[in-house]
Amino acid sequence: MNTVETATPVAVPLWIGGKAEAVTSGRSGPVMNPATGEQIAEVGYAAAADVDRAVVSAKAASHEWRSTSLSHRAEILFRFRDLIERNKQELAAIITRENGKTIADAQGEVARGLENVEFACGIPHLLKGGYTEQASRGIDVYQIRQPLGVVAGITPFNFPGMVPLWMLANAIACGNTFVLKPSEKDPSASVFLVKLAKEAGLPDGVLNLVHGDKVAVDRILEHPDIKAVSFVGSTPVAKYIYETGTRNGKRVQALGGAKNHMLVLPDADIAMAADAAVSAGYGAAGERCMAISVVVAVGSVAGPLIAAIRERAGRIKVGPGADAASEMGPLITREHRDRVASHLDRAVAEGATLSLDGRKNPMTSRKGFFLGPSLLDHVRPGMACYEQEIFGPVLSVVRVSTYAEAIRLINENSWGNGVAIFTQNGGAARQFQFDVEVGMVGINVPIPVPVAYYSFGGWKNSLFGDLHMYGPEGVQFYTRAKVVTSRWPDPAASKVDLGFPQVR
Ligand code: NAD
Repeated sequence: MNTVETATPVAVPLWIGGKAEAVTSGRSGPVMNPATGEQIAEVGYAAAADVDRAVVSAKAASHEWRSTSLSHRAEILFRFRDLIERNKQELAAIITRENGKTIADAQGEVARGLENVEFACGIPHLLKGGYTEQASRGIDVYQIRQPLGVVAGITPFNFPGMVPLWMLANAIACGNTFVLKPSEKDPSASVFLVKLAKEAGLPDGVLNLVHGDKVAVDRILEHPDIKAVSFVGSTPVAKYIYETGTRNGKRVQALGGAKNHMLVLPDADIAMAADAAVSAGYGAAGERCMAISVVVAVGSVAGPLIAAIRERAGRIKVGPGADAASEMGPLITREHRDRVASHLDRAVAEGATLSLDGRKNPMTSRKGFFLGPSLLDHVRPGMACYEQEIFGPVLSVVRVSTYAEAIRLINENSWGNGVAIFTQNGGAARQFQFDVEVGMVGINVPIPVPVAYYSFGGWKNSLFGDLHMYGPEGVQFYTRAKVVTSRWPDPAASKVDLGFPQVR
């Protein structure tokens, strides 16, 4: 692996048929370092013809790859896993350079992505079907799961290493070939990963990479040889991907945005709840789909909890992600930073109290896209800061009087990705788990991202499609079932029987 070439790419390449290629579109965009505000690379935006080349390559590799034994596929995944592990510092550094998150956070992202490769290494076990002997006299019935063919993944900027691994590890383990379209804002982690996959022995064409914008995405959605699309990104785009992809006959799972609530009951340990709210609200500068963006404080807990959050948030060290002392890095672009900051004045105009103003953080005067932690109190439904996904370091507090009021608020929210409850009362937590209409629930756990052997996905506007991502549901998504009914009778006993077959 050439460190210089991958860590500081001048032009970010496509990866088709096992080698780097350039786009034919003549269109491209800048890749920025959010910590310095400077351009560090240029990424070509694929034309429809570039996507077509990637699909031709994936299709050509498809038959041979699905014919490869499960143990050989697992062997390659093991080597891929080891190569990621060995190169994890470099991968994390690439993520930090283009995304802005801190090195520690990028390392955490790589570790969680690696879990998905480890899960996929168990593919021989995961693809075991059911077998029923003697379903009828002398008749056996069994189910097998087969790959779909060429499948595609479209991923967001906020996890440029982990989310591609959520998808591609299971997809290729199941015997599919894959076309990845990562975020054009931080595409180099994907280039690094596809090179490692080749080094691990993955045959050319099994994993292809195209970069770009809506042009590339639209071609993926309409290409007749792409059988399934996995998407992670904002809700409006997720809805569009789901509607367009399914209209074109594809299997689609499209994970969207979020507004994750953290419910704090009056009996909660205030210090522990404040630590959790600050960690989950401001970690990765709030650019996590599982970030806590709303604290719901019940009754008397509000005053002391808000004071504890404010005190901790005010101490967060904002700085470049590559600086080991930084706890929170910049946001992804200047436009996004400014959009996040614009929520603060609007929230105040709509009646919220600005308890901590991130615009006053000294780092905001730098060229990078920095914004300090902000805290909004007395937020209510109907305010833009509550109704919209801010996706930045802004934590809102909604004060309610009762648990019933809190659960109604959370269930009426249009998103249902993650949620957390902080309490010392097991019965209350059990009731919350039963009542809440959200896909991933944390009990005294602020960021309940499921481990790789469960599946990830929200409810309501946080997921379009039936199956969640990765884990067992990922294997289900990337395969289709075939049921075989089989008998080996004595031909001498054969006769015509026009009746509908019944079990005997
Ligand atoms: P985004 O929706 O802007 O982009 C996601 C992908 O879609 C990118 O590859 C992008 O190139 C492509 N895209 C963007 N606009 C498009 C369009 N109009 N037509 C077709 N393709 C388009 O999302 P983002 O800003 O990269 O990521 C942040 C969002 O992702 C947040 O909303 C966050 O909540 C969400 N997210 C969700 C999850 C989850 O698991 N639910 C995980 C991570 C991020």
